[in-house]
Amino acid sequence: MTERQNLLNLNQSSLNDFFNQLGEKPYRTKQLMKWIYKDHVFDFDQMLNLSKKLRETLKEIACIEFPTVVSKNHALDGVIKWVIDMGADNNVETVYIPEKDRGTLCISSQVGCSLACTFCSTGYQGFNRNLSTGEIIAQVLIANLALKPSGKRISNVVFMGMGEPMLNEEAVYSACDLLLDDLSFGLSRRKVTISSSGVVPALERMSQRVPVSLAISLHAPTDELRDELVPINKKYPISELMSACDIYLNAGTQERHILFEYVMLKGVNDSQQHAEQLAKLLKGVSAKVNLIPFNPFPQSHYQVSSASTIEKFQNTLFSRGIRTMTRRARGEDVDAACGQLAGKVKDKTKRTHARRN
Ligand code: SAH
Ligand code: SF4
Repeated sequence: MTERQNLLNLNQSSLNDFFNQLGEKPYRTKQLMKWIYKDHVFDFDQMLNLSKKLRETLKEIACIEFPTVVSKNHALDGVIKWVIDMGADNNVETVYIPEKDRGTLCISSQVGCSLACTFCSTGYQGFNRNLSTGEIIAQVLIANLALKPSGKRISNVVFMGMGEPMLNEEAVYSACDLLLDDLSFGLSRRKVTISSSGVVPALERMSQRVPVSLAISLHAPTDELRDELVPINKKYPISELMSACDIYLNAGTQERHILFEYVMLKGVNDSQQHAEQLAKLLKGVSAKVNLIPFNPFPQSHYQVSSASTIEKFQNTLFSRGIRTMTRRARGEDVDAACGQLAGKVKDKTKRTHARRN
């Protein structure tokens, strides 16, 4: 028997194709998406507006399948972290961050990450595989279902969990389609953010393919330093990255800006000179800078910059006309802060081994 199609993998246009192949009309897509994404009904037998024959066919050839939740931890500040089993000894992590006026869900796009940024716990884990659209979307559904009884809701989704979304383009794009689609999650394009460390050719495609917000993990203002912190910079240096940013900013009809993320590492990238170099690099770019105090993890050898250094860095950027904010660490007591997500990754790259030597 061929494998059943998990319908969580399909965006609206793929679902139309799916029903078309079954000789069904496109309105079936609307009915099915309402059951899944609005009514949270995942059993075909309960989808009574589908014909009996169609329900029987769907049971044979399709499924609506979720990965298993291994654990759900609540931090003191309201942050919730789910560890989700993606099979074959691989776990990923999903984090809900409540704020006064919104609730952000931070989702994973890969099991581990192959890019090995030196300050990132996921980078230390190595890489196993890409997540499918269904596995990405399931994270949002799992969180939605868990939050529903308390009346809390997800207003923003950010691809800032484990993995580099721009190395898993197709699955991430289809997941974005579903996040934006009124028939499923219906989030506005400003409230869905892809965060990337700078996979330049993918960023150029992304600008045309999905109209979501973009965050770039910059972390250093010069190639010399960025080569060290974000190794993919050796392949796509800052000048190429900034050209890709330009393409993004000029795509689409609505005004866009880019969030530049900058992790604050004591004595590494946090001097006044670095702040001035960064201001120069971003001059004239429609940008916001997000300073992220470094979150430590067991293998890390960096330290976080002091509060006064971060403030000084921020003031230098302000004085050069760059909009800047400092991200507050959340969920630290359950290891849910940026860069602390480690999951459980069966490393296929042997990086963990190489790093030990
Ligand atoms: N791979 C993507 C998205 C996941 S990382 C990317 O790199 O953008 C999400 C954000 O957390 C990135 O800006 C990343 O650089 C940052 N981050 C990683 N490790 C961190 C750490 N230890 N402390 C603070 N931020 C970290
Ligand atoms: Fe991968 Fe992003 Fe971590 Fe770098 S910061 S290793 S790109 S998850």
